[in-house]
Amino acid sequence: MTAIANAKVTIVGAGAVGSATAYATLIRGAARNVVLYDINAARVTAEALDLAHGAMFTGSSAVIGTSDIADTAGSHVIIVTAGAAQKPGQTRLELIETNARIFQTMIPELVEASPEAIVIIVTNPCDVLTMLAVEQTGADPARMFASGCVLDTSRLRWLLAERAGVATTSVHAYIAGEHGDTEFPLWSTARIGPVPLLEWTRDGRRVFSAEELDGLAHEVRTAAYRIIEGKGATNYAIGLSATRIAEAVLRDENAILPVSTVLGSVQGIDGVAMSVPCVVGRGGATPIAETEMSQGELDLFRASAETLRSTADRIRG
Ligand code: NAD
Repeated sequence: MTAIANAKVTIVGAGAVGSATAYATLIRGAARNVVLYDINAARVTAEALDLAHGAMFTGSSAVIGTSDIADTAGSHVIIVTAGAAQKPGQTRLELIETNARIFQTMIPELVEASPEAIVIIVTNPCDVLTMLAVEQTGADPARMFASGCVLDTSRLRWLLAERAGVATTSVHAYIAGEHGDTEFPLWSTARIGPVPLLEWTRDGRRVFSAEELDGLAHEVRTAAYRIIEGKGATNYAIGLSATRIAEAVLRDENAILPVSTVLGSVQGIDGVAMSVPCVVGRGGATPIAETEMSQGELDLFRASAETLRSTADRIRG
């Protein structure tokens, strides 16, 4: 498959996350046509106008704001950010009732308008909502998946890079599992360039201890709580993360990104959406089943699956 010319990307939800995603999509030139869709007509019109007013600096992309789902028809990629967001101290899983209700009517309408689209779910709890949306629509799990731990992985790589004194792009490490409180780093395979983390030295001294790595994992896991406490929402880094995933699809990159797909037999897990490194290209996302995990990581992976499965079961009733 090849990259898509004149790509159309719909971003659903024009709140903090949706508008940041649209902004990132425009300034990175990820798509020729950007549609911002929200039920709040006044808000979406205003956001799109504000974005369009930067057209002189963003190249040839066009952006419209709409509350008519018909305008989303024929999208190549749909990024879903609509729904309730965490309030200070609230967990992602606590959003499930409200957002599952919104998804029940919204997702089938979007899929009907753009049957060929790859759907990227950002709304939280993104793993559980993806499980429910795939079940409801019968979508191929490769073509409807969550942004998962792409953002968390970027947070982790930034922290590691700062300490190691290297570029973020030279850190090879992933967060896996739930996008939420049970997520965990795949430390056993993490590297700085070709060097295992614990062996990396700076000025002749080892940089990382097992204890410090625990602290960094905690910092990543709790990052959203701290940001929401301070500014009410997280939006810029998730906007970039969602845009990066869309680019990998639209350019048929086969980039490796830890998105969250409904798994079929990955480390013995079936029917639960959670993050492992996946190959992402025009056909969507395919989990890398051979991803190595230590026994401790496997235990955490299974615990994450259990949390997500029981939340989904509660909603299915
Ligand atoms: P927000 O309240 O600023 O915006 C939500 C928008 O959704 C609002 O404009 C609202 O009008 C719209 N909306 C609600 N119901 C709709 C419907 N049926 N159709 C169309 N639009 C509808 O919230 P936010 O801060 O932008 O967060 C959005 C979601 O993204 C939250 O669930 C949040 O938890 C999630 N999020 C996910 C990640 C991630 O990494 N997956 C990161 C940050 C935020």
